[in-house]
Amino acid sequence: MNDFTPIQEINAPSIKAAKVQLFIKREDLNHPTIQGNKFRKLYPNLLQAKKENQNTLLTFGGAFSNHIYATAAAGKEYGFNTIGIIRGEKPKKIGSTLRFALEQNMTLHFVSRSEYRQKESIDFLESLKQKFGSFYLIPEGGTNSLAIQGCQMITQEAVRQLPDINYICSSVGTGGTISGIISGRLSQQHIHVLGFSSLKGDFLQKEVEALLPQIHSNWNINTDYHFGGYAKHNKQLISFINDFKQRFNIALDPIYTGKMMFGIFDLIQKGKFPKGAKILAIHTGGIQGIQGFNERYNNVII
Ligand SMILES: *Cc1c(COP(=O)(O)O)cnc(C)c1O
Repeated sequence: MNDFTPIQEINAPSIKAAKVQLFIKREDLNHPTIQGNKFRKLYPNLLQAKKENQNTLLTFGGAFSNHIYATAAAGKEYGFNTIGIIRGEKPKKIGSTLRFALEQNMTLHFVSRSEYRQKESIDFLESLKQKFGSFYLIPEGGTNSLAIQGCQMITQEAVRQLPDINYICSSVGTGGTISGIISGRLSQQHIHVLGFSSLKGDFLQKEVEALLPQIHSNWNINTDYHFGGYAKHNKQLISFINDFKQRFNIALDPIYTGKMMFGIFDLIQKGKFPKGAKILAIHTGGIQGIQGFNERYNNVII
């Protein structure tokens, strides 16, 4: 984590025509497996777990979760046992994310959806302690205050690499990453932070407000590009992702970064950014999800 992740410019006729500039910060290159925002979020938690002399990490996620994948990889690399509490019954055929987690020696524990919903209840966590012994708890998606601090680094690197950026864009799931990006601006509060929700609904603005360590203005969450909801997609999104890969040689995932980048291109084309704007998109990673997506949907992503 000593080197800054690279920033590249994306050149396309539609961007040029709108008289803006688009850059991408390649957080997907920060680690081959822990990758992207999940590495940023986990890293301070790994340090904290070591400090507390915990040698087991326990966390929550779905069967295709980037966070489960990253936690399993981080456990292997940094010497922790890992336990993944997985939402839903054990699938007949284990997908690529959980296969990888098992290869990293993560213990998988499948719970019903109703049980999973209790993931924050004291009683449920106590029953997990009875079952697995003592552990360092990392919430679903990895979002906690240490994770937010880890994500503040994204902005702090970015403003040193590109001091005159006007917009930073990121995909939003639980809101932890964008909270870090917003609160990491320090003296650069004029930079507008624009989140793209990969979930349906407009509850995220409030959730991010609650996660932010203090009140910040000059940010908002766009809810126009979720494509029907979490992990929902259509042909238009898939062909955008494939086209982007061919033109710029950068893979985007269909759950988060593909939707964000689709949204950015669409807003640029519609003239929603002022002329001269320098827009930085954060590539938050998530590339591992492509394999599992292709297993389910007939290899649609190239
Ligand atoms: C998890 C994830 C997100 C969402 O991050 P939050 O902190 O939960 O908002 C965005 N992009 C990728 C690639 C992710 O894996």
